[in-house]
Amino acid sequence: MLKKPNVPVIALEEHYADPELYALFTGLDATTPPHVVAKLEDTGAARLNDMDAAGIDVQVLSHSAPSLQKISTGAVELARRVNDRLAQIVATAPTRYAGFAALPTHDPAAAADELARCVEQLGFKGAMIHGLAEGQFIDDRRYWPIFARAEALDVPLYLHPSMPHPAVIDAYYKEYAKDFPVLLRAAWGYTVETATLAIRLVLSGLFEQHNTKFILGHLGEGLPFLIWRINNGLARPGQKPVEFRDLFSAHFSITTSGFFSDPALLLCVQEMGIDRILFAVDYPFEANAPGPAWLARVPLCDEDKAKIASGNAKRLLRM
Ligand code: ZN
Repeated sequence: MLKKPNVPVIALEEHYADPELYALFTGLDATTPPHVVAKLEDTGAARLNDMDAAGIDVQVLSHSAPSLQKISTGAVELARRVNDRLAQIVATAPTRYAGFAALPTHDPAAAADELARCVEQLGFKGAMIHGLAEGQFIDDRRYWPIFARAEALDVPLYLHPSMPHPAVIDAYYKEYAKDFPVLLRAAWGYTVETATLAIRLVLSGLFEQHNTKFILGHLGEGLPFLIWRINNGLARPGQKPVEFRDLFSAHFSITTSGFFSDPALLLCVQEMGIDRILFAVDYPFEANAPGPAWLARVPLCDEDKAKIASGNAKRLLRM
């Protein structure tokens, strides 16, 4: 019998690969096994059957990392082609798929325009940005036109991990990278990089000017566990005043992607509130079936499970 919550399940961090864009990733994606690449490339019957078998009603599709964030030459035109093709994929199963845009962050003004085109003309629900853009954290003011446009369109930006900066890999991970290549990726490096970006966004002053909504995967990249200590440290004397906890809690939602842990989820509920937690799998890097089965048995009431399964997504993504 299918184990899933007794409500629709919308999964938010579900990846695919556009052939033209994915072909540019050579060497960047060395740890992805061929059977996962095959699943990234499939957006047809096999993917839908896998969703059915797991009890996932809707996947919000996004390109796999690093998407367009390491591409400069021709990025604006490539983004249009990639997003147009994603819209065609969504149109093949409009009740099962939705889309997050890929943005050409190399040109922030053009990226903002592409976000608007994707939301207003293609019906996308927001966008996903993967890690550093051209080696730079995107809290830099040159990227703020993207955040201003997301605010105006009232759509969230999903901040997805990507490879750490080469200098960080060299200083922190290089002795272990050969034997443990996932250490600098999903096992630890991605978490540090993405949590650092979220902290920098709060400290940047962005939220004094823009009410932009962000989503973090992987149960908030560790930040819900650490928020008390971060807030406490930043409140010590001799620093610029910042209401870290309030700003983070007001502007960030988190998903369950690749992180099906009861104690970690319950901590997130206590720190963030049930309305800020959304379901995701991180398909195909994680298998679909364990996600809804886990959500069905987590020690929360049915009303709270329904919010995580799809209620919060319907509100945040206006689905
Ligand atoms: Zn992912």
